[in-house]
Amino acid sequence: MADDCIFCKIIAGELPSERIDEDEDTVAFLDINPWTRGHSLVVPKRHSRNLLDIDDDDLRRTAVAAKRLAARLRERLGCDGVNLLNATEPAAWQSVFHFHLHVIPRYDDDPLQLPVRPQPIAQEELARLGEELRG
Ligand code: AMP
Ligand code: ZN
Repeated sequence: MADDCIFCKIIAGELPSERIDEDEDTVAFLDINPWTRGHSLVVPKRHSRNLLDIDDDDLRRTAVAAKRLAARLRERLGCDGVNLLNATEPAAWQSVFHFHLHVIPRYDDDPLQLPVRPQPIAQEELARLGEELRG
């Protein structure tokens, strides 16, 4: 448990949460500022800061728990789709520094929109990037 980590405190039961799922390694609870109805967070019980820090097994277990939760959101809330989201570091909007996956149920008529307008990239630039990143 990390000092001053609100998700560690939620896992330990020292802070309240609307817990909706749990297994040996993970906990899932409702987000208090939901983007849509049923927006939840899945966290590993063992503290890690984010995707760059998390142990591989904890990542696998958290992903599996998110899959289980997605199925439950579909079954119980009748969502039409699901977004999985992780924010790693403030540049990527991380605000709580205990690894978590957002499991966001999506509804055909919900108001969420992509916050960016993706633009095509030139073929040469794509190839340069590929070169930089391979291996
Ligand atoms: P992120 O910005 O990806 O780090 O997401 C952190 C999320 O945690 C936000 O969606 C917050 O609404 C949510 N959050 C913060 N505090 C709590 C809390 N005490 N219980 C449930 N969700 C929380
Ligand atoms: Zn923590």
